[in-house]
Amino acid sequence: MRSDTQINEDEINAKLQIKLFWAMVITGCVANMVGFLSNLALFGLSIPTVVCGACEIMIIVCGGIGIRLRKTKSAATVMVLVLALVEFPFLFYAYGATMGVYLVLGIIGLAVYFPRPYHVPAIIITIVLDIVVVALSYFHSGAIKKMSIENQAGTMLCSYIIVAAAAAVIICNLINQYALQQQHIVSVSQELEYAAHRDALTGVYNRRYLINTLNEWMNKENHHFMAVLIDIDDFKKINDTYGHLYGDEILVELARLMKEGIEGKGIVARYGGEEFMFLFEKPDRQMAFETLERVKDGIGEYSRKTKQITVTFSGGVEEYWTDARIDELFRNADRKLYQAKSNGKNQVIF
Ligand code: GH3
Ligand code: MG
Ligand code: MG
Repeated sequence: MRSDTQINEDEINAKLQIKLFWAMVITGCVANMVGFLSNLALFGLSIPTVVCGACEIMIIVCGGIGIRLRKTKSAATVMVLVLALVEFPFLFYAYGATMGVYLVLGIIGLAVYFPRPYHVPAIIITIVLDIVVVALSYFHSGAIKKMSIENQAGTMLCSYIIVAAAAAVIICNLINQYALQQQHIVSVSQELEYAAHRDALTGVYNRRYLINTLNEWMNKENHHFMAVLIDIDDFKKINDTYGHLYGDEILVELARLMKEGIEGKGIVARYGGEEFMFLFEKPDRQMAFETLERVKDGIGEYSRKTKQITVTFSGGVEEYWTDARIDELFRNADRKLYQAKSNGKNQVIF
């Protein structure tokens, strides 16, 4: 099964692939059209004219098939192979150094469009071929000799504009993609961090976060804080009578009230099934008492409104100021909670 993260990343990659595909089709079409027409005007129906015309047709056909059949990856591979291995070396052979920029574009094209596991061998083969063609053109110069100096300058300018535009489009798209992926990674890691610290049902902190916070607070100098362990009274009966879903609803509402109550004074975490723990940063009994009263009134009112019952809870309060260990703190709070249950529930033992 694929996760949302995977789907999102695939979407980002698919969008980039389409953009890069269109960039190749458009620049390829424009460049070959310019090449075809200028060759036709200068040399008539020469071999370079035919090569530019054939490549124009190849790009239109591959582009159309790629978009129609949603096979842009395969179509881009065919196009970049023909351009890098056939057209660009041929143009260099025919026109010489004015076409040098296309050889570089061919290598960039292979790096970007060729299937990833094979792009390195493809690039190496193309570089070797380009070297051979450059050497060959040195000994057998092609049509360049027949071009006037103005035409050479015009060809060079055109080549530069086409290659610069294509390279800029490719690089800008890749940089945008990188930025998008960075953003995506940051938001995913924030979501993961949030999830790692929270209880999935109630959204309050989980036991792991509670223990981390306790360790942190205990390591502070002059640590003196207060922990309150809360347990819903007769929760099993609530589940049995009104169903597990209503039980969940009570847990969510109680957690919401607790979160609201402790805001700015400390944290609340789900300690176990229907047990929660408040950590008050200051050991202020009056403040803890008032917070617990507010939560008690809130959950009572909610349960009366929804099922005409009064849900209550019991609690044990433990102040922490010695060098006691976490398990001792938990044990003492639990002992007081047990005492509250034995005394008839719906009360908090300080
Ligand atoms: P007491 O007053 O002594 O605390 O009695 P109690 O029924 O609340 O305590 P007991 O420990 O017997 O039952 C706790 C129940 O909480 C049992 C378990 O099914 C239920 N519970 C634990 N986690 C969840 C949960 O996520 N959702 C729901 N609906 N119930 C839960
Ligand atoms: Mg319990
Ligand atoms: Mg209980």
